[in-house]
Amino acid sequence: MNGKNLVVADDMVVRIEYTLTLADGEVVDSSTTDGPLEYLQGHGEIIPGLEAALYGMSVGEEKEIVVTPDLAYGDYDPDGCQLLPLDAFDDDVELEPGMALELVDEESGEEIEAFITEIRPDGIVVDTNHWLAGETLHFEVRIIGVRPALSEELEHGHAHGHGHEHRS
Ligand code: ZN
Repeated sequence: MNGKNLVVADDMVVRIEYTLTLADGEVVDSSTTDGPLEYLQGHGEIIPGLEAALYGMSVGEEKEIVVTPDLAYGDYDPDGCQLLPLDAFDDDVELEPGMALELVDEESGEEIEAFITEIRPDGIVVDTNHWLAGETLHFEVRIIGVRPALSEELEHGHAHGHGHEHRS
């Protein structure tokens, strides 16, 4: 296969420029601030709706992609919001809305990511929903690189590229 004709397919490392906008027009993420995203296609490294829409694209191609919550970060779950007592938190930590927390489920011992939505006199309201849960996401994507994955990347299930922080 000629390297210039590579298209987005399973086991390819894909590099994209993108802008992520919510339905109300707010830009919440963009490669102009964080740099291009490099990921491994077909391994669930990015949200399913975005990954599915990129198959077959080649370098230089652009696409607008709308991803509904079921193929992004899920529907918003009202049960994800809980009021925790103030004494569940260390005194020396200054709490503020928007702060991310790691909670530990008392039954399973599992770590759960959450963020503070409200600080009240009777406790702290935390939300375990992803901050983009329930949102329909509008992506503008441009493919700027496609290459076969290295065997180590396939083993790990993610791309090792520019700015990659090794997670496993
Ligand atoms: Zn790795």
